[in-house]
Amino acid sequence: MEQNALALFRRAGALLEGHFRLSSGLHSTGYLQSALVLQHPPDAAVLASALAERVRSLRPQVVISPALGGLIIGHEVARALGVRAIFAERAGGTALSLRRGFTLGSGERVLVVEDVFTTGKSTRETMDVAREAGGVVVGAAAIIDRSGGTIAFGVPHETVVQLSLPTYEADECPLCRQGIPVTKPGSRPG
Ligand code: ZN
Repeated sequence: MEQNALALFRRAGALLEGHFRLSSGLHSTGYLQSALVLQHPPDAAVLASALAERVRSLRPQVVISPALGGLIIGHEVARALGVRAIFAERAGGTALSLRRGFTLGSGERVLVVEDVFTTGKSTRETMDVAREAGGVVVGAAAIIDRSGGTIAFGVPHETVVQLSLPTYEADECPLCRQGIPVTKPGSRPG
């Protein structure tokens, strides 16, 4: 499944390898744009089904995703699991919070679903949101872990694909030192 998933990403142009400046300002050897593969609903369903099978034993009752990146895959994973899909967003400020009107039952079993684990920061923030709303976070899931398996959340986490696409501070980037031109995300490499 891992190779199938990567093939879907490559076919959609959603996995680019080279030298990139990410939106965070960090430099990296790879750039993932999950929206390009998730724009195809059958592909989104294939990836979500694979992920759902890996987390089913955690018995989640609701999926929570951070907007926007986690919305489509969260929705599809929830569909495969037969549970609700809700989301957290940054409305007006910088703090992530549940979209107004969404609630959790006390002790409701929550699975946090993202498209990609990079540093895990938004996943951790979403876990906090879920706990503040009364949920019990039973796990986290993403299509791709691009950290090379270095992240941890204190709860089980599952992915379909493990990649090592390290990120570097711009002034410590080995690719820059080699004089390799950097590509801005969104612009196509030549
Ligand atoms: Zn660089």
